[in-house]
Amino acid sequence: MFSERLKSLVPYTPGEQPQDRKYLKLNTNENPYPPSPRVRDVLQDLDIERLRLYPDPMSTRLREKLAVKWGLKQDQVFVSNGSDEALSFCFYAFFGSERGKVLFPEVTYSFFPVYCSFYGIQYETVPLNDDFTLDVGRFVEKGGCGVIFPNPNAPTGIEVPLGKVISLLENYPADRVVVIDEAYIDFGGETAACLIDKFPNLAVVRTFSKSMSLAGLRLGFVLAHEKLVSALFTVKDSFNSYPADTLAQLIGETALSDEGYYRAITHEIIATRDGFARKLAELGWHILPSKSNFVFARKRGVEGREVYLRLKDRGILVRHFDLDKIREFVRITIGKKKDMDRLLDEIRALF
Ligand code: PMP
Repeated sequence: MFSERLKSLVPYTPGEQPQDRKYLKLNTNENPYPPSPRVRDVLQDLDIERLRLYPDPMSTRLREKLAVKWGLKQDQVFVSNGSDEALSFCFYAFFGSERGKVLFPEVTYSFFPVYCSFYGIQYETVPLNDDFTLDVGRFVEKGGCGVIFPNPNAPTGIEVPLGKVISLLENYPADRVVVIDEAYIDFGGETAACLIDKFPNLAVVRTFSKSMSLAGLRLGFVLAHEKLVSALFTVKDSFNSYPADTLAQLIGETALSDEGYYRAITHEIIATRDGFARKLAELGWHILPSKSNFVFARKRGVEGREVYLRLKDRGILVRHFDLDKIREFVRITIGKKKDMDRLLDEIRALF
């Protein structure tokens, strides 16, 4: 009944979205603040006749607005159904085993090996340093058919500084693509989007899910040279012509218009993160230096899985990855200050 292909698939496991009871959700890096109030206004005023028609398959207006925001041309912008889709299209378009293995960090976004198995792409991982920082020089040494890494990395939250990104791009072969997944960059990192014009082999993948508080909308985008964007359009139109629906395009445009609101909530999340990390460190936890909306932390002598289970029992969800090198850790999304205070109280009581 099933294809041979299907038998070998090992799918990604998304973070829990439990429907049974109400948890304090600190497990999937969602934003604790609502989207811009302008999103509500635009939905209230929506003429539902618009939903009778198919959406613009090119997301023209949204791409125009993104291009203006980033100082790029519209044909340097690609829009997708969440950034997972954009990442998947990047794997398909830019990496192929006939040209060698794609490289990514040993500890990273666990969707990357899944895309490789889905598309039959060989990969090689580069080890992190002992402090979980990423030495991008290792990508240059190994070569490969291309490179992909999140910046900041997930689930560590550690940033590769822009100077190091530039040195990677200067030294990596110009005929192979470097994809940087900037899902969490707005929480204190420095974007590589300013390098698009200088490096035609750079693709920066971004999302509306985290800093724009629109994870439920499914909207992502890629900033890159026209040729790379055109390749992504070829993949999209071989797969689904309308990945970004009418509402997603409209709400995306609206959210982009409210920079002040988003700057304020991002600032709040960063302040909460830094305060939370300080207090957790005072309780004897080891926390990796985060430039994202989560922290990766461990308590010596307590298994990460145990932390996860005991907090879950108390109605708080965090994320545990049962993987080599990070088994001791849990990833904790930064919520509102009161959420983090509640978590600290539970941690004090439990551990
Ligand atoms: N990249 C990283 C590193 C992530 O953690 C996530 C969220 N799981 C994504 C991309 C995808 O986010 P989205 O599809 O919601 O844009």
